Amino acid sequence: MAETFRNFIAGEWATPSTGEYFENRNPADWNDVIGRFPRSGPADLQRAVESAKRGFARWSKTPAPIRGQVLQRTGELLVERKDAIARAMTREMGKVLTETRGDVQEGIDTAFYAATEGRRLFGRVVPSELRNKWAMTYRRPIGVAGLITPFNFPLAIPTWKMFPALLCGNAVIFKPAEDVPHTGHLLVEALLEAGLPPEIVQLVHGQGSVVGRALVEHPDVPVISFTGSTETGSMIGATCGKMHKRLSLEMGGKNAMLVMDDADLDLALDGVLWGAFGTTGQRCTATSRLILHEKIHDRFLTMLCDRAERLRLGPGLEEGTEVGPLIHADARQKVDEYVGIAKREGVSVAIGGKIPQGKGFECGWFYEPTVFAGVKPGMRVEQEEIFGPALAVIRVGSLDEAIKVNNDVRYGLSSSLYTRDVNAAFRAMEDLDTGITYVNAPTIGAEAHLPFGGVKQSGNGHREGGWEVYDFYSETKVCYVDYSGTLQRAQIDTYEP
Ligand code: NAD
Repeated sequence: MAETFRNFIAGEWATPSTGEYFENRNPADWNDVIGRFPRSGPADLQRAVESAKRGFARWSKTPAPIRGQVLQRTGELLVERKDAIARAMTREMGKVLTETRGDVQEGIDTAFYAATEGRRLFGRVVPSELRNKWAMTYRRPIGVAGLITPFNFPLAIPTWKMFPALLCGNAVIFKPAEDVPHTGHLLVEALLEAGLPPEIVQLVHGQGSVVGRALVEHPDVPVISFTGSTETGSMIGATCGKMHKRLSLEMGGKNAMLVMDDADLDLALDGVLWGAFGTTGQRCTATSRLILHEKIHDRFLTMLCDRAERLRLGPGLEEGTEVGPLIHADARQKVDEYVGIAKREGVSVAIGGKIPQGKGFECGWFYEPTVFAGVKPGMRVEQEEIFGPALAVIRVGSLDEAIKVNNDVRYGLSSSLYTRDVNAAFRAMEDLDTGITYVNAPTIGAEAHLPFGGVKQSGNGHREGGWEVYDFYSETKVCYVDYSGTLQRAQIDTYEP
């Protein structure tokens, strides 16, 4: 009998008010039930908000360096539990163990970075235009932050939000994706064991359309941070706009790797295999378009298909597996539908395009790594996020054309250029219309101390990671102290130099 998990609300592990649960199954073997998780309702969310407000009253007055110490200890616990959490994560969402270990490592890096920020959280002191007057800014906590996360980075993405939000003195309500509730549970356990006082974090499991929505619509949750699809992000954006909430959106991508005729092709090949088929293509920064200079197009396409065809599919927990399953039936169905769309648009399916058959694949959501050749700019497989192991290859005649193709999509998260020409590299860094550009590296590989986010419909201008995220989770307050003993009127009582 699978274990039954609970929410964490009002300082205790709590059964859902609905009395209902959903099953969480291993995508590599759907007979393996990981657990039953609460299908919570609005009443659970309401309780979580009331408790988080009490938590906020206490935590916002806790000195930031002390808040940082809790995150330091959380990071240490994640170090101890790295392998166990990675295994649980692979079982829950399918990506291979090396990748889930990396996912936990990103959480560890984020924890240690946040811990040190507790001793900075700088404001500014700047000169006033008047004598005997100080002008300064400092960071205040905001309140209860609602954090809604996707399935593909079950630990890293929640930590990107939760750790800076907590460090800044906010209380958080965490709604993990329905597909990865177990990793969410393990993260909250670590925070509590690290000494986070109980009402400061709330974990509410359930459907996005029910508890996610209730969280976004709750008037006492002034901050929402969402990572997920552009479609869901747009709905959340409309609500938050009407309710004047502070909102960070990290959404979809259609990221391209550009390979020029002077590139190191072996290096580019390793890069594209990792970028396109790592996490089974289910990364917001996955390389889903490969833009090849015509002079190397045919050679590189042959090299790519030869290697991609030999990638080893299988359960992520099995030694030697390179590509795990997709997250669920709908995700696999979507990839298969795009294969049909590509064929109807006249694209050739160079490799893959099928559900693999045979031993080991019967009970998992596997799909063969797929390469679409002869793709033209504007085709649906070139424009739309497929979120699976599918790569569209486009032929171009120049760097200018490659940049234009890169930019002519509604997304703008990540891009990558392979070249040995330093001038071309710098031009591309300027002209590629994405939040992140890699030179001679694939479209993936964010580091915790740098800002992460996209332009156009990949985001709404905020950034996760780096120092920038601390701006999002804190309110900048300005204080003027006039110690002249007289009324000094700004812009009226002016001084001569
Ligand atoms: P999704 O949009 O289906 O779900 C994301 C989260 O939103 C889940 O927790 C879900 O329960 C919740 N949700 C769904 N409907 C909601 C509603 N009406 N109100 C409130 N919450 C709701 O996304 P997914 O399938 O889990 O993840 C894949 C998507 O995430 C892809 O588009 C991918 O590009 C994107 N993504 C973006 C980034 C980034 O940083 N830009 C990172 C990872 C994933």
